[in-house]
Amino acid sequence: MLTNESKVTEENPYQVALAQLKLASEISKVDPWIVEMLKTPKKVIEVAVPVKMDDENLRVFTGYRVQHNDARGPYKGGIRYHPNVTVDEVKALSMWMTWKTAVVDLPYGGAKGGIVVNPKELTKGELERLTRRYTTMILDEIGPYRDVPAPDVNTNPQVMAWIMDTYSTIKGYSVPEVVTGKPLSVGGSAGRNEATGRGVSICVREAASAIGIKLSGAKVAIQGFGNVGYNAASILRNEMGVNVVAISDSESTLYSPEGINPDKALEYKEKNGSLRGYPGAKQIDASDLFSLPVDVLIPAAIEGQINKRVAESISAKIIVEGANGPTDIGADEVLREKGVLLVPDILANAGGVMVSYFEWLQNLHREKWDLNTVNSKLEEKMVYSFKEVSKVTQNYDTTMRLGALVLGVGKVADAIKTLGLFP
Ligand code: GLU
Repeated sequence: MLTNESKVTEENPYQVALAQLKLASEISKVDPWIVEMLKTPKKVIEVAVPVKMDDENLRVFTGYRVQHNDARGPYKGGIRYHPNVTVDEVKALSMWMTWKTAVVDLPYGGAKGGIVVNPKELTKGELERLTRRYTTMILDEIGPYRDVPAPDVNTNPQVMAWIMDTYSTIKGYSVPEVVTGKPLSVGGSAGRNEATGRGVSICVREAASAIGIKLSGAKVAIQGFGNVGYNAASILRNEMGVNVVAISDSESTLYSPEGINPDKALEYKEKNGSLRGYPGAKQIDASDLFSLPVDVLIPAAIEGQINKRVAESISAKIIVEGANGPTDIGADEVLREKGVLLVPDILANAGGVMVSYFEWLQNLHREKWDLNTVNSKLEEKMVYSFKEVSKVTQNYDTTMRLGALVLGVGKVADAIKTLGLFP
């Protein structure tokens, strides 16, 4: 059975990212020397992280931090813990961060980190030692004005707190602004935890209104029940009246045409470790999730989930990419031909890094904003960015994927051109 942990596409994510760069720079006629620079990340850091396990044995984990481009501001991007992390994956993700921060006009560049590990197999103590040692090994490469990490797949506010504490301990003073996505008690921002899911929900609402689908009662299927999938499901159902008919995690895919209550499902998952066996919904094969009769699909797990074959089976009118890189190039083409409105990752899931930026600002100014302030700034910026991307999409008569890439790549290229090349 297919699970969310496996990819269906054969395409290497870095090759997908390069192909997207090529398409976007051809459309917007970016100078070839700039494209040449943007093809390769500025810095790829690989570290071998030794960790004393609870049984006294030593294990060495491979960790990465890839810094793609910082022409528009400090590097920014999450750190993921996953057994399938590869350097090419982290390179692709770092490039997507560069475009993402540019698309939504944050003064950041793009980076990403990863450790090859299945965190579910580690105890809390082991995870803390792994995180602290990894932080120590990349310490000179990160910093509030250099590179600001954040959560990604399988990392959370606690992991960010360990990064902050390790960095601060070695510097000798508290530096909350070195990392975002922290717990509230140590400088985290109100609204950061649900920010990506909230941004995804805003995109669902905007996309539905663009093509005249009534949001209330609209059917949505969501792949992935981590931070992004759960929060999107909860906000869509509780605040927008959407009918969440399918959800899935790495072990189980659930379907109920009458609707699933994501909050009850989360309670069940926390008690039982997974969604498997959740009453009130039918368990279906993971590979059937994308072909369900729904209005909206939200891939919110990992990359490489929708290839040409999967795309052909999709009947939804809207896809909003909560995950980074869930759709491959071949699938994009099929979806375009079918007239599916796809809101691409670099716009759809930008709510996370947007509120990361708000957190960083609050930390630098030693301020605290309330939830309403954060959410209304997020709402305003997401809607504005959605409109900006739609405008470019119309101007070039293309897909929102290419519209967003043209906008993002264009802004980065402008910055590089203006800065010039040193020496
Ligand atoms: N990992 C998230 C992303 O892919 C958040 C990054 C951040 O907040 O810096 O956008």
